[in-house]
Amino acid sequence: MFCPKCGKINPDKNDLCSNCGAVLHEEKEDTPMKKNGNLKAVITILLIVAVIAAAIVLLNGCDPGNIMQDNVTF
Ligand SMILES: [Zn+2]
Repeated sequence: MFCPKCGKINPDKNDLCSNCGAVLHEEKEDTPMKKNGNLKAVITILLIVAVIAAAIVLLNGCDPGNIMQDNVTF
């Protein structure tokens, strides 16, 4: 991984940079941020699905032939 301080590439097993001695493995204490990111991802996916659904409805609505066929149920 890259050293955040000097940018030197170190083996992943290294805890400290072999060049400048900086700590390579940062403590993971941003769990709430991660949850927030997941929520954002879910909302983004829902928005994409809604846009696709709206596009399908609009495309069907723009085609009179489809509406005529859908109304004929006899
Ligand atoms: Zn370094």
